[in-house]
Amino acid sequence: MSVTLMNGKFIASIIKEDIKIEVEELKRKGINPCLAVILVGDNKASEKYVSLKEKTCKELGIKSLIFNFSNETGEEDIVNLIEELNRNDSINGILIQLPLPKHINQHTILQKIDPFKDVDGFTPYCLGRLLMDNPLFIPCTPKGIIRMLNIYEIEIERKSAVVIGRSIIVGKPLSLLLLRKNATVTLCHSKTNRLEDITKKADILCVAIGKPNFITAEMVKEGAVVIDIGVNITDDGKVVGDVEFEKVKEKVSYITPVPGGVGPMTIAMLMENTLYATKIQKGLI
Ligand code: NAP
Repeated sequence: MSVTLMNGKFIASIIKEDIKIEVEELKRKGINPCLAVILVGDNKASEKYVSLKEKTCKELGIKSLIFNFSNETGEEDIVNLIEELNRNDSINGILIQLPLPKHINQHTILQKIDPFKDVDGFTPYCLGRLLMDNPLFIPCTPKGIIRMLNIYEIEIERKSAVVIGRSIIVGKPLSLLLLRKNATVTLCHSKTNRLEDITKKADILCVAIGKPNFITAEMVKEGAVVIDIGVNITDDGKVVGDVEFEKVKEKVSYITPVPGGVGPMTIAMLMENTLYATKIQKGLI
């Protein structure tokens, strides 16, 4: 069976080109989209993700403001900044880079973001609206995955979709989006019994665990669509996903590579959400 590698990098580049044009049009009207990013602590991966977001904003003409807090910062300082950014009309999107240091309660912080500036879609308001089939901002990684499935014209309706991982960043919202597309969804996690029996029946298998090469060819149905969300760094510094790519790709119809699959789509969706937030706030939609 011939496999199609889903080229997230290429699709993301086209989406970003369109965003860039829209940003230029807004700027001609005197509107300057701006994303505020809050980074707490010195997590190296988080620092890398933030600098990637900063770089992409620059490429597309979106202003970005990075607010760095030390590891020792308390919740109050972060909440004060969020409230200030909420009030500031020149800020269109607010993003808290996750994970936060252990002593900070993620829920306390996230719920302070004005939902209309919540470009990551992680506030209780945005997640609640997604649950109620009336989304405002959809979390970027799941949104990017659905966009990729649509672009490759992969049928979702009536398919058996299995999602492994139940985080609010990926697994839970992705399950809801697949359900909205009329898939029959099974959401698995670390306490799932006989995982292999479930994955083998998946027409669409989405894996967001964070364990290198966890999904082997034996666990996958012939001809399935495999979406690998995991990002893992091996001992020799290579970036790999959660799926044993070389062997699984021999068996499936579509697969996302890591890197170059889901990751670039996530950033493109963040830019799209920032543009959308700007347009809502300026009364353009
Ligand atoms: P997370 O919050 O750590 O969640 C991991 C999930 O995997 C949990 O629900 C956990 O189950 C489940 N899990 C762990 N071991 C398992 C096992 N042996 N069998 C079945 N389920 C298992 O992770 P996350 O934030 O969702 O991220 C997951 C991965 O995606 C990471 O590698 C991350 O770097 C990557 N990621 C990539 C992007 C991108 O744009 N490409 C974006 C976000 C995240 P329990 O709930 O039972 O503990």
